[in-house]
Formats: sequence, C-alpha cells, structure tokens
Amino acid sequence: MRILTVVGNRPQFIKAAAVSGLLRERHEEILVHTGQHYDDSLSRVFFTELGLAEPERELGIGGGSNTSQTARMLAALEPLLAEVQPDAALVYGDTNSTLAGALAAAQARVPVVHVEAGMRSFDRTMPEELNRVLTDHLGALLLCASEVSAANLKDESVAGRIEVVGDVMVDVALRRQPSARADVETLSAYGVRSGAYLLLTAHRAGNVDDPDRLRALVDLVKALPVPVVFPVHPRTHARLADAGLLEELTRIDALRLTEPLGYVEFSALVCQARAVVTDSGGLQKEAYLAGVPCITLRANTEWVETVKAGWNTLVDLDASAALAALQREPPAAHPMALYGDGHAAERCVAAIGRLAPTEALQA
Ligand code: UDP
Repeated sequence: MRILTVVGNRPQFIKAAAVSGLLRERHEEILVHTGQHYDDSLSRVFFTELGLAEPERELGIGGGSNTSQTARMLAALEPLLAEVQPDAALVYGDTNSTLAGALAAAQARVPVVHVEAGMRSFDRTMPEELNRVLTDHLGALLLCASEVSAANLKDESVAGRIEVVGDVMVDVALRRQPSARADVETLSAYGVRSGAYLLLTAHRAGNVDDPDRLRALVDLVKALPVPVVFPVHPRTHARLADAGLLEELTRIDALRLTEPLGYVEFSALVCQARAVVTDSGGLQKEAYLAGVPCITLRANTEWVETVKAGWNTLVDLDASAALAALQREPPAAHPMALYGDGHAAERCVAAIGRLAPTEALQA
C-alpha cells in the first residue's frame, strides 16, 4: 500500500517516529511535514534524535490563526493527494495538521487512519478537541490508546472501525527510559539533582493567550518550590515577552528557563524529576510512565486514567492546589500498562495492513 502520512508538530514527530520505520518495512510511506512547527527546537531535533525519515514533502505552512492555517493546509494537500494517489492517509493526534490531513483525504475518498483516536477532554473551547472530534468522524480506521477512548468513539457512533492498539508514544518512552534514568550529564547541565527538582512546561492556548490566565500562570510558577527547569515553548515565550512578564521569571533564582529541549535531554529530565508540572497532553502520560507525579495546569484532561490512578492532579492555574498536590505522597500502586505494552506501533501497522478496499469506498 502507499500511505500518505501527515505530520506537523512536536508530538506528531515523536508518534510518527514510533510507526514510520515499521510501516516502511511493509508499505510505501510518503511523509508530509505541513510546517506547523518549524523551529529547529520543535522539529528538526526530533528527526535526528528519533531517526524519523526526512519528509518527502514540506508544505511550509506555519503561523496564522487555527482556521487560516488549517485552510492553507487543506489547499496544499488537495493537489498533493491527487498527485500521490495514496491508498490511505495516516494522521496523528489532534492538531491542525491532523484535521487538514483527514479532511483533505476524506474529500479525495482516501481512507483515513487516525492514531490516538477517541481522546476527549469534553471541552470544546480547546482547538485540539475540535480537531479530534472532527478527525474521528472522518476516519475509516480509528486506532485507540485505551478502552476509554474506544468507548468515547462508540458513544459518538463514529462510522470507522475501532481498534485498541495502545499508545505509540509509550513505545518511544519505554524504549528511552533506561538511558534517560541513567543520564547524569543532562541533569548536571541544567544544575539539578535526581529527584530534587520540578520540570515545568506550559503552552496551551487556554493558558498563555489570555492575559489574565497568563498572569495567573506566572504567579503559580513564582509560588513553586525551586529548583525548577522550564523549557519555554516559543508560543509561551512570545506571550510572556509581549506581556512584559518574562523578566519576572528570569529574576527567580533556581528557575532555569531554557529553549525547548530535544527528546533525549527532555526525557532524562522527565524520568528523574520529583514531579512534573505541565499543561501538555503527552507529558502527563510520560510522567505517569516514568513513575513521576504530574500536576496538570488544566481543569480537564484526555488522559483520565492517570488521574484515576492517583498519579496526576488537575489544578488548573490554582497555585495553592498545585502546592498541596506537591506535598502529597504518590500512590503505592502504579498500574504500568495503562496505555499498552510498548508495542502499539506494531499493532497500528498490522491494522493498516488489514484495511479492506471497501473501507476506501466508504471513506
Ligand atoms: N517535549 C520535548 N521537549 C520539550 C518539551 C516537550 O521533547 O522541551 C516532548 C515531550 O516529551 C512529549 C512531547 O514533546 O513527548 C509533548 O509535546 P507538547 O507538549 O508540545 O504537545 P502535547 O502533548 O501537549 O500535544
């Protein structure tokens, strides 16, 4: 089969790195990079570190509003699909690149495979939630990380075939863990000791685009016990700089602000942190896998299993709730295999291989 894979941002490069190599052993893959993330620190480093093949096509479409970005991607993908004539289109997660890839393919009657299908925060103010719901309703094959996400899809009566395969990011994280735990160089490069620092990330539009929420985020960060390592997403950096808030953070001793990090350094900092404080989706799960408590700067999450297991606490931007969560001992039990056994990518590739021609016609 010829598969057109559409990726565009940091977590998608990580997910594609899990699947792409295996996919290429059995099928022809055309990897399209939309350009949604174009900074080297959010893009290039993941190709080099995780051995993801160079994209066959680069669309160079970044910036602008969600709507205009998605529209430009759609316009660029239509002729590309006509030229490549793939047997299926493969999309990951919940970004503008995911939705554009799925919609352009479905319109061209190319069956859509969605990896990480069925995730729901049930918060339609999040652009990611709109992208997820729409992509799942366009999908012919919906590959889920957990039974909960499969149940969400059944509740919505999606048309595509649902399979629980586990989470492909888990494949990458588990493979990386032994070296990440043993990596002393990275910790000393950031001036921290194993088990004695917090790792912080924040970039959700809901937290950084609204000036009042951004102010609350900064107040929360200032209240955290140090040392803290904070790789700052370019979007967050720009909002903090525009609001004149960057200075307040740079003045804090032992709050280490850095550029976004590559996966190798970042996973070392995840695995050895005392706790992770984040509004990222992927990181909530990676903290759980590493057995590190997570404080999530959101009022809801798609990764509900981590909350139920007691390893993840939702505090939104409430600083005192964050501090209280940090005081609590992590639970004794750690049900490791919440999102699969590290072999999700193999199941994805097998499921893609079983895509029936009739599914193409129904797409
Ligand atoms: N990540 C990274 N370097 C960083 C911050 C995050 O490699 O400085 C990785 C992290 O390990 C996770 C992914 O990027 O696998 C999460 O991406 P992001 O938070 O951008 O997206 P989300 O998961 O929220 O969609």
